[in-house]
Amino acid sequence: MAQNGLDMEIQFLPGMGPKRATLMQKELGIYNLGDLLRFYPFRYIDKSSFIAIADARPDMAYIQLKATIMKVELLNNGKRMSIWVSDGTGEMEMVFFKGIKWMHEKLRTGVEFIFFGKPTVFNGRINMVHPEVDAVTQDTPQTGCGATMTGVYNSTEKLKNAGVTGKVMNKLMNTALERGLQYMKETLPEHIMKQCGLVPLHFAVRNIHFPKDMTSLEKARYRLKFEELFYLQLSLLKQKYVRSRAEVGIRMPKVGDAFNRCYGSLPFQLTHAQKRVITEIRNDMKSGHQMNRLLQGDVGSGKTMVAVLTSLIAIGNGYQACIMAPTEVLAQQHYKNIQKFLAPTGIRSALLTGSSRTSERREIHAALEDGSIGIIVGTHALIEDQVIFRNLGLAIIDEQHRFGVEQRSRLWRKSSCGIPPHVLVMTATPIPRTLAMTLYGDLDVSVIDELPPGRKPVQTIHSTESKRPAMYRFMKDQIAQGRQVFVVYPLINETEKLDYQSLEAGAEDIMKNFPFPDYKTAIVHGKQLNDVKKFNMDAFASGRADILVATSVIEVGVDVPNASVMVIESAERFGLSQLHQLRGRVGRGSEKSFCILMTGHKLSKESKHRIELMCTTENGFELAEEDMKMRGPGDLEGTQQSGLPINLSIASLAKDGLILNAARACAEAVLDKDPTLTSDSNQLLRTELRKEKYQIKDYSKIS
Ligand code: ADP
Ligand code: MG
Repeated sequence: MAQNGLDMEIQFLPGMGPKRATLMQKELGIYNLGDLLRFYPFRYIDKSSFIAIADARPDMAYIQLKATIMKVELLNNGKRMSIWVSDGTGEMEMVFFKGIKWMHEKLRTGVEFIFFGKPTVFNGRINMVHPEVDAVTQDTPQTGCGATMTGVYNSTEKLKNAGVTGKVMNKLMNTALERGLQYMKETLPEHIMKQCGLVPLHFAVRNIHFPKDMTSLEKARYRLKFEELFYLQLSLLKQKYVRSRAEVGIRMPKVGDAFNRCYGSLPFQLTHAQKRVITEIRNDMKSGHQMNRLLQGDVGSGKTMVAVLTSLIAIGNGYQACIMAPTEVLAQQHYKNIQKFLAPTGIRSALLTGSSRTSERREIHAALEDGSIGIIVGTHALIEDQVIFRNLGLAIIDEQHRFGVEQRSRLWRKSSCGIPPHVLVMTATPIPRTLAMTLYGDLDVSVIDELPPGRKPVQTIHSTESKRPAMYRFMKDQIAQGRQVFVVYPLINETEKLDYQSLEAGAEDIMKNFPFPDYKTAIVHGKQLNDVKKFNMDAFASGRADILVATSVIEVGVDVPNASVMVIESAERFGLSQLHQLRGRVGRGSEKSFCILMTGHKLSKESKHRIELMCTTENGFELAEEDMKMRGPGDLEGTQQSGLPINLSIASLAKDGLILNAARACAEAVLDKDPTLTSDSNQLLRTELRKEKYQIKDYSKIS
């Protein structure tokens, strides 16, 4: 039990003791002096300026007044003390229920004091209950270390009850700085601080707790955020570097005939973005290193096309390729879609899913093993042990977040030549750039940022229950023109009864208003057997059904170019990214398309903002950025299952994009010169990287 330096347990600090210390450890994870110093305020109170009583508003967080006591009253048998103060602009009442005796002695009429607290409204007037009261002194720094602002720290009810108030925290930090700061070792090398304009650690830590002024606080924050993001990027980039050097990849030098034949018979021109991305992929595949690439592109941007051409490169070099999708419906869709592109190549392909028949499955297994199948599309069925490839050279994974690490590494082991296959992960969920840099910082990223020409924008409309009849008329009008309509119900929780009830009630209402045989409605949801699901899905995809009532099952897949209307019920229950995904299901054909967001009448401020954004922008990346700002990076679609692999203590992926850029550029520059960080001048970087905090849970890559 070290009691010196940063290891000193906080129970030995004045005012703490074992009880409070244990509580601090439980509630905040603060154990020793070092932890305490690295526990930063989440906001600040400016005690450097005073507000005029006339300007005080009840919605202000905290205010500070300098006012003279006019009258002191003891009310309610001495249980309540009321102090009337004035600063010349107005009067205010200060109310005390506790510590009255002590206050009563201290506070005299005619004397000026400083009052600090939260304004509230009582009987139509603004007052403050239990404000902090300080005497006015010559030099008026009210907080420690000559600071003008006071830090406010995250706390809990339990801590407050144990007497660990804001003021106690501030005092504690003051002591911590006095005793501990000297032991804190600089965590960034001199040359990086100089080059990136960063203040030293001691200055930063002192000012993050007790800012001397706004400028010092900004500098402190910048330095600490930079440090955090820098080491994170350094860690990711180093992993990437090590892998690209160490991991041998299958060398695929040519594009091959199959690629050329397919390319030559495409009914359209590839977009510039598609061409660029294919070049990036092709360069990886011929490099002799294993490809680990993330392909991002909005729904409808033509990722499938890229997947097909990439697979054909593998085949052209004598290898097999597999395309793995998260759901049966999606796998079928992919399989169907790629047939038309594969036709001119004569390459044999197959579909393998959980519902493939045993006989068929055996045949496919055999054909994969002897190499007669070139491209296999499927679900998790592809990673079963019985599946053996003759020579798997490329694995394409669609919507990667639905696969766990374990599953992916099983796919990896399926390569029989001992060299891991190239890996391309495709996602249609636009991920904010800062998040992608963190989640996939060790992957190469390609982005298709352009839609094929001729797409008409999808008009998005907000509607409520009272306008339902009008909406039904609109649907009928579209159906009369030969179009099809999606009606989607939220399915937040597969097992939630309520969700099914609303889907069932909704479907019933649709069938009443769109009676058979004039209208044909298909229903798809997660509880149906695969055969039933497939049958209903096909009915809609083939145009036999006019309306598809579905849960968000259809979110990821489904290409029905003739569908021109997407109705999203209870749209306020979906996140922005999810709404955007759903909307991407229409607007795929040449007709003008519509997305109708049905919501309740009363919306929270946040829901309202979301719906408004949906109505005004179609840019998936913009929406993802907003989603992250509103919900934080941890809750974003696509990261939910895995959670963030890192814990940021001060930097924010939603707000600190510019600092992240600078930190990454700096990390790149360091690794450019010294990829393995072996030089003497990088000794400190090596040491820091070993810290627990920067050990990133690695789930984004396949190997
Ligand atoms: P994603 O998988 O990115 O959502 P898809 O690959 O399914 O997008 O493409 C959507 C539709 O656009 C498909 O019908 C596809 O055939 C078509 N498509 C793809 N690339 C082009 C292109 N360059 N020009 C015209 N249409 C294209
Ligand atoms: Mg797709």
